[in-house]
Amino acid sequence: METTNGTNAEMLAAAAAMTSTTTEDEQKIHHHHLRKGMRLQHWRDMPKHLQFNPYIHTGYRPLLTFWGCINSLFYLHNETINILTHAIPIIYIIATVPPLMPWTQLWFLSWCHVIGLVSPWVGSFLYHLFMNLDQGEKLYCRLLQIDMLGIWINQSFGALPMVTASTYCLPSLIRWSFIGSYVLLSLWGLYKALTAWSPWERRLCFLMPFTLRVILCFLRYWGFGGGDPGAFTHVILQDLVSAIGGVIGATHIPEKWFPGTVDMYLNSHNIMHVLVVTAVYSMHVATICDLHWLTRASCDAAPKL
Ligand SMILES: [Zn+2]
Repeated sequence: METTNGTNAEMLAAAAAMTSTTTEDEQKIHHHHLRKGMRLQHWRDMPKHLQFNPYIHTGYRPLLTFWGCINSLFYLHNETINILTHAIPIIYIIATVPPLMPWTQLWFLSWCHVIGLVSPWVGSFLYHLFMNLDQGEKLYCRLLQIDMLGIWINQSFGALPMVTASTYCLPSLIRWSFIGSYVLLSLWGLYKALTAWSPWERRLCFLMPFTLRVILCFLRYWGFGGGDPGAFTHVILQDLVSAIGGVIGATHIPEKWFPGTVDMYLNSHNIMHVLVVTAVYSMHVATICDLHWLTRASCDAAPKL
C-alpha cells in the first residue's frame, strides 16, 4: 500500500480496501517481514535502473541502507545465488592459491595471477550485494564500474603470465610487440569498460585483448611461442567457457522462455556466474602450469620463426 501522498479520505479508503482484501494473518506476516527489512518486491515496484531484467519478476530486495544490504546476506532473495557464487571463490582463492606460487623466482607475475584471480569476484560481490543501496542511480553506476574494473584486472594483469609464457620463445622484437600490444589494447579496453553503458558494449571492451589471446593460442598450438604444452586445454577452456557464459548472460536464456519461474535460481545470470567461475578455474590451472614452466623454461625444442 503506497498512500504517502494521499489525502485522509484516500488513506481511509485504502485502509478499508486493505482490510477487505488481506486477512489478519497475511498482515501479520507482512509486518513481520517489514520489521526484519526483508519484504521482497516485484519487478514493477523497482526503480528504473534496477529493472535490467524484465523476465525476473519477483524476489527483489527493496532499497536498503548499508547495513540492510549486509543483512540481506542472511535471507533468500533474487541476488542470493549471484552473491554466493562469487563470495565463495574469494575465500577459496585466498586460502589455497598463495602457497602454489613461485614467489621467489617470479614475484611480479605471481602477484598478477593472485590479484587477477580474486579481482572479478570482489567486484561482482560488491556490485550484487550493494546494487539496491538507497543512494540512487549514481551509486549503482559506480558499483557497475567496480564490477567492470574487477573483470578488467583479471583480463589484463591476470593474463600477463599467459602472454609472457606464450611469447617466451619468439624473437625478442616480436615478443615485446605482442606484450606491448596486449598492454595497449587492455588500456583501451579499460577506457571503454568504464564509459560503456549497454551490456553488449561492455562485453565488447574485452574483445581486442581476447583476439590477441586467440592468436597466442594458435602460436602455442603450432609449438612456436612457448608455455607449458600440458596447459593447452585449459588455455582454450578459460576463454571458451567464459564466452559461452557471456552469451547466456546477455541473451537472458532461459528466463525469457519461462518469465517469472527462475527468479531465485537457475536464471541466465546465475548460470553465467557459475560458468565464469569455471572459466577462471581453468585460467588458474593453466597459469600455474605456465609459471612453473617459466621457472625452468628452455626454448631449445621450439621451432625457429
Ligand atoms: Zn553478476
